[in-house]
Amino acid sequence: MLIEDHVAKIEAKISKEVEKAAKRFADFDEKMFRSTNARVLEYQQKIDDINNRFKQALEAGDLAAVKQLILDLEIVCPVSGTRNWTDVRQFNLMFATQLGSVTDESSTIYLRPETAQGIFVNFLNVQKSGRMKIPFGIAQTGKAFRNEIVARQFIFRMREFEQMEMQYFVKPGTEMEWYEFWKEKRMKWHRSLGLGESNYRFHDHLKLAHYANAACDIEFQFPFGFKELEGIHSRTDFDLSNHEKYSGRKLQYFDTEENRSYVPYVVETSIGLDRLFLAILSTAYNEETLEDGSTRTVLRIHPALAPVKCAVLPLVKKDGLPEVARKIMDELMPDYLCQYDEKDAIGKRYRRQDAIGTPFCITIDHQTLQDETVTLRYRDSMQQERLSSTQLKEKLSSQLSLSHLLTKL
Ligand code: ATP
Repeated sequence: MLIEDHVAKIEAKISKEVEKAAKRFADFDEKMFRSTNARVLEYQQKIDDINNRFKQALEAGDLAAVKQLILDLEIVCPVSGTRNWTDVRQFNLMFATQLGSVTDESSTIYLRPETAQGIFVNFLNVQKSGRMKIPFGIAQTGKAFRNEIVARQFIFRMREFEQMEMQYFVKPGTEMEWYEFWKEKRMKWHRSLGLGESNYRFHDHLKLAHYANAACDIEFQFPFGFKELEGIHSRTDFDLSNHEKYSGRKLQYFDTEENRSYVPYVVETSIGLDRLFLAILSTAYNEETLEDGSTRTVLRIHPALAPVKCAVLPLVKKDGLPEVARKIMDELMPDYLCQYDEKDAIGKRYRRQDAIGTPFCITIDHQTLQDETVTLRYRDSMQQERLSSTQLKEKLSSQLSLSHLLTKL
């Protein structure tokens, strides 16, 4: 992390140069600038040198060389500001615990650091019972546990967290095509969430894990910089083969087209549910100053992702308006999570809904009693329109449906 952060600082210097130049020249060619500007090239050379040394040291398992690199780069401790580094050491990455009533060495087990292994162990079970043909994927969410050295940045890095993983089983030799396929698909998925296209980038791994033949991260621009949100790994047949080897049970797929059995290769996508939540929440949260000088807190979360979809608000607490509002609420509740609110002035109620990201407020007033129309207020634009109750339902279903996001894929 120290070395990666150091590299990120040099990358930021390059971005600054690019930004400055883009402002200076009208017909700015970024690619050309990056490949010819002397200062940018110098920074890039520095990055490449560091990455090469880092990669070599990691691949050789040479922790002394990693320390030397930290010393040579004159990296200071971000907490204490000193350069008085201890040696680089290997940490325990997993939590050990004991199974059974008698404590001895054979009862030691480990909390899972990823959810993937459950999928591997059940691979044949799912394939046979679901009558699946390769290629196909198995996805699940579940808890994972890691003995992180420092757990920080709110819910970004925790020792107990939630993962959403998919293992996609493919024919050996086709894994690189599928790796590229999933890279693109997952990036599209992220971009469809409406958090800003430029907030994402790929980061290829310098050093591959023992099980991978290709790996990259999808990084997101969190308030504290670009950080990993999802990992995409080509895991070869490492996991299935090892489960076969140590369990003595075959984990092979019979390919009817090729008339032969083989251990499939696997492409994995792995995303932290908590990190995704943090990405959405931190990007959606806005404090705005309005035209009249007042301020509002608004969670600009995509309507399909908003936890509360609409608020039903009778303008006043009398004249039969609450009864009509309750009726509308009853009609909407089977499809959407709604909130009913009749306390305080209407403006204050709108603000409360803005702050929790409710995309629509439905206001019932005296006109509703006469013509059954309501006012629909949009969270982001704060604009309002008058609708009949049938129009209202159509509007809500078109805006709130998840298919709104997924059809963009
Ligand atoms: P990092 O480099 O941030 O430690 P990693 O490379 O160890 O992450 P993976 O092993 O690829 O992460 O795990 C897949 C996903 O699980 C990550 O992209 C991240 O979203 C999530 N994740 C990993 N570790 C944690 C953690 N300690 N707390 C919360 N989420 C995590």
